[in-house]
Amino acid sequence: MSSKGLTFRGGIHPPHFKKQTEASPIEEAFLPKEVVIPLHQHIGAPCEPIVKVGDNVKVGQKIGDTKAFVSAPVHSSVSGIVTKIAKRNTPTGSKVTSIVIQVDGKQEISEEVQPKGDLENLKKDDILKIVKEAGLTGMGGAGFPTHVKLSPPEDKKIDILIINGAECEPYLTSDHRMMLEYPEKVVLGTKAIMKALGVENGVIGIEKNKPDAIKIMKEAVKSEENIKVAELQTKYPQGGEKSLIYAVTKREVPSGGLPMDVGAVVQNIGTVSALAEAITTGMPVIQRVVTITGSAVKEPKNLLVKIGTRFKDVVEQCGGYTDDLGKLINGGPMMGIAQYTDEVPVIKGTSGILILNKKDSEKPEPSNCIRCGKCVDICPSGLQPLMISKNSLLRKFDEAESYNAMDCIECGSCSFICPSKRPLVDAIRVAKQEIIAKRKKN
Ligand code: SF4
Ligand code: SF4
Repeated sequence: MSSKGLTFRGGIHPPHFKKQTEASPIEEAFLPKEVVIPLHQHIGAPCEPIVKVGDNVKVGQKIGDTKAFVSAPVHSSVSGIVTKIAKRNTPTGSKVTSIVIQVDGKQEISEEVQPKGDLENLKKDDILKIVKEAGLTGMGGAGFPTHVKLSPPEDKKIDILIINGAECEPYLTSDHRMMLEYPEKVVLGTKAIMKALGVENGVIGIEKNKPDAIKIMKEAVKSEENIKVAELQTKYPQGGEKSLIYAVTKREVPSGGLPMDVGAVVQNIGTVSALAEAITTGMPVIQRVVTITGSAVKEPKNLLVKIGTRFKDVVEQCGGYTDDLGKLINGGPMMGIAQYTDEVPVIKGTSGILILNKKDSEKPEPSNCIRCGKCVDICPSGLQPLMISKNSLLRKFDEAESYNAMDCIECGSCSFICPSKRPLVDAIRVAKQEIIAKRKKN
């Protein structure tokens, strides 16, 4: 390993902008007066409501579920009364059926919430059931149901679990703080997933710009023979699944393939911490750590927020917006989604709320491609972003597909590096949507 740490090919070095919150301990957010809990916070089938308007609900009570395999149940984060079941905007940009609950402030815990006992006494199937029932999904943003990732087909032999502690996205510090403040949860959740997968090899990958987290996690796994901490080079997108797998194992996920094709499963720090909680207390995913930061929020913080709390309520606890609010983003600046309203709720995948002032929100005017090749050099997926983008703009989506557009992880590195400031990733996203639509039609 070089002294810079393990890494992947390509990548960029955007400014970190983490100083605002990296030393801010996680604080519990205030309880809002009302929560809006979407029934579709994950990749896969939406849930159906299993409560009705007028019902009293308690903390941790299941309020939405489905029989579909690729899905995750949804639970109430508060105690109170269901006042509405209706379509509401979510921070992913879609409008989905959501349960609106008026909070009673008592925070009574549901009888469904029961500790699951010691990990030593839990079998593989017990852990899978806990994962599914707790509504666990990837909490780094993508929202893939965790139990699906932990149920690979028979012919896919998994031999390594990699925990993503890279947190390479600028501004965000929620995973960093969780490693510093809940290291024992990270270790318990990691051990539980290793047991569910039947693997003997666990690695927690952390970027070298978090030396305190590396130190604490190394100490936390000192007596765990099968879990190691890997020091990763500080480079974006180090936390992308394929980049992380390559950095840790030197295995390359093939084009169109999945981590399981090279014997790996990747989980996020938030997901393993939530699993530890579900085992020790029985509490499903009802809250998450969110970094609220940027140049247009008065008091940046890391807050433990109840799922369903509106962005505006969270921002209010951070002193509110400054006078020159420019842009509100769910997530970080590279992969986050811009919001046009702060009425949207925090969902399981909301790792951060980034609030930028007008100056920081300005988009430079694009000019013509000078064919410098920089976007090709840095693409972590080994793509030719300029060609995919060009074909997308010409609406030649078959051509874009032939340049492996579907392998794009939408990291935004190409747009960042482009000297002509071309909005490459935006055009590639359009191509991907068109290709998916065509595949569905066929
Ligand atoms: S980085 Fe920009 S200017 Fe350079 S080749 Fe790519 S698209 Fe063209
Ligand atoms: S083409 Fe996709 S994967 Fe490659 S740098 Fe651009 S956004 Fe990232």
